[in-house]
Amino acid sequence: MKQGIPEIIKLFKFASKGLIFSQQYQVRDFPRISKLTSKQDSAVDVELSFALEGRIPCVKGKVKLDLALTCQRCLDEVNVHLEPKFKLAFLHNEQQGEGLSESFETILNSEEEFSTIEFITDEVLISVPMTPMHEHECVSYQDDTPLIEEKRKSPFAILKQLKTKE
Ligand SMILES: [Zn+2]
Repeated sequence: MKQGIPEIIKLFKFASKGLIFSQQYQVRDFPRISKLTSKQDSAVDVELSFALEGRIPCVKGKVKLDLALTCQRCLDEVNVHLEPKFKLAFLHNEQQGEGLSESFETILNSEEEFSTIEFITDEVLISVPMTPMHEHECVSYQDDTPLIEEKRKSPFAILKQLKTKE
């Protein structure tokens, strides 16, 4: 049975019980995401399911949200629909991941408990386009000045970048 998502994720505990949660939030519930958008009451649907793979706690998740971002071409508002999905395995060390299905993204993590909001925020921010733009030609000239990419500072995001560079 699905239930609302607790504020704190208790990783091993939830995984060993195979808990499934779903909840509808608003963008305003995620301070770091809400800074990017003007529509604070836009819905954020989240589903998380926890399971153990051997002794490794894993989380599968789905998030759906709409963000009103700034178009990097015309600087007007552009509505971007995002549906980040993730399948994460939380490892204490690299060796633990041997034999784990390749479909899992691995994260080195020794925390048993962490903030649900921060966790979801990290997964959403990875999926936000660096340079959101209207699909149509919203301005007639092409500005070829390169945009400065903002570096993401979340530890989850940084670990993932390291893992995907192999
Ligand atoms: Zn535009």
